This record gives sequence, C-alpha cells and structure tokens, in this order.
Amino acid sequence: VANLERQAHIDGLTGTFNRAFFEKRFEQEKEKADKVGLNFGIVVIDINGLKRINDVYGHLAGDTLIQACGSLLKKNIRESDVLSRFGGDEYVILLPSTGIEGVLVLVDRINTAQKDATYCFPGENGDKIVEPLQMSVGAASSEETPIDKVFNLADERMYEAKERFYETHERYR
Ligand code: C2E
Ligand code: C2E
Repeated sequence: VANLERQAHIDGLTGTFNRAFFEKRFEQEKEKADKVGLNFGIVVIDINGLKRINDVYGHLAGDTLIQACGSLLKKNIRESDVLSRFGGDEYVILLPSTGIEGVLVLVDRINTAQKDATYCFPGENGDKIVEPLQMSVGAASSEETPIDKVFNLADERMYEAKERFYETHERYR
C-alpha cells in the first residue's frame, strides 16, 4: 500500500514528485506561513529549447533532456525541498522554512551547476549526441510578498530570465 501511495505522488518519467503532490504540500506550507509565520520559497524552472530537441531529434531525446534537468536539480537541493515536475518542460521546487536569502542561495547554486552542464543521447546511427543543458530560473519567498502572490512572482521572474536567455540564444526560441 505504501508503495502504491508513493507512486501516486511520483512523475513517471523523472521520478520527481508530480504536480498533485506539490499542490498538497504547497497548501500545507501556505497554512504554516499564515498561522505560524514560517516562510517558504518557490523556484520555477523552465527547460530551454525542449521543443527544438523534440523537433530535431525526436521525443526520446527530449525525454533525456527532461530527465537530465530533474537529476541536476535533485542533486542541488535538500532532501526536505519538494522538487516536482509541473508540466511538459517545467519544474517547481517548494522550499519549506526558507526566506528570500536562502532562496537566492539556491538559485545561484542551480545557475552555477548548469553553467557547463550537458546531457547526451544516441543519434540515428548510434553515435553519441551531446547538447548543452539550459534552464531559466525564477524564484520568490513569502518573506517578500503576500502568500497568495509568491508563485506568480517566481513565475514572472522565470519569464524575465527566459527573455534574457533568448536575447543571446535566438535559435532556442
Ligand atoms: P541534503 O540536505 O539532501 O542536500 C543535498 C545537497 O544539496 C547537498 O549535498 C548540497 O549540494 C546541496 N545543499 C543543500 N543545502 C545546502 C546549503 O545550505 N548550502 C550548500 N552550499 N549546499 C546545500 P552535500 O553538501 O553533499 O550534503 C549531503 C547531505 O549531507 C545533505 O543532504 C544533508 O543531509 C547533509 N549535510 C551536509 N552538510 C550539512 C549541514 O551543514 N547541516 C545539515 N543539517 N546537514 C548537512
Ligand atoms: P549557505 O550555503 O550560504 O546557505 C545559506 C542559507 O540558504 C541556508 O541557511 C538556507 O537557509 C538556505 N539554503 C541554501 N541552500 C538551500 C537549499 O538547497 N534548500 C533550502 N531549502 N535552503 C537552502 P542554513 O540552513 O542555516 O545553512 C547555513 C550554512 O550551513 C549554509 O550556508 C552552508 O554553508 C551550510 N550547509 C547547510 N546544509 C548544507 C548542506 O546540505 N551541504 C553543504 N555543503 N552545506 C550546508
């Protein structure tokens, strides 16, 4: 039973939590912030160029990119942070008991980790194709804005980061 319950919370492709589990934990953290004044952080991460990889190399290659991003994120957060796959090319991390400074420390760590990151997949003739792994990251904490605005603020900041990324990486758009 425990195993089934666990599976209901897990994204099949990546082994990270799924959106339903995130929503549940998010409600709990909002309540704690509301009642006890504990802060929480939200980090929104969007994979850059997934569509291009799917179009050029196919969906199996795209899956490899999605998985590689999940692994990189997982390696750089705490066991107590909730990493979830939110949609096709989006991840969200919930950081319990974390203020804005801590959130920014984590964003820096993610951006440093992905600086020279690559992932690979087999090409048509079995040769190894290596591509850079790139994500746009936006974050916010309940310390800086009302509880019900934290997610939107993180999302807006992710879009700003994405625009900056496209300015120098037009082919990814
Ligand atoms: P964890 O808490 O699951 O964290 C996983 C990884 O996320 C860490 O691997 C580190 O790369 C990164 N990380 C998480 N929080 C921080 C942070 O505040 N600062 C920095 N610079 N990196 C952070 P790492 O460092 O190899 O640690 C592995 C595990 O060892 C951690 O898993 C945690 O369980 C434990 N650990 C390491 N250092 C500390 C510490 O100072 N305090 C506590 N309570 N646990 C620690
Ligand atoms: P730091 O690396 O400069 O992190 C400062 C603060 O940022 C942490 O304070 C925490 O509030 C927040 N923070 C950093 N990384 C993470 C993260 O992955 N998830 C979440 N939820 N919050 C994060 P804190 O907890 O008081 O830790 C103080 C210092 O202790 C850290 O400074 C770091 O030097 C060390 N530390 C704590 N845990 C770990 C760990 O797992 N690995 C390593 N390498 N260092 C750790």
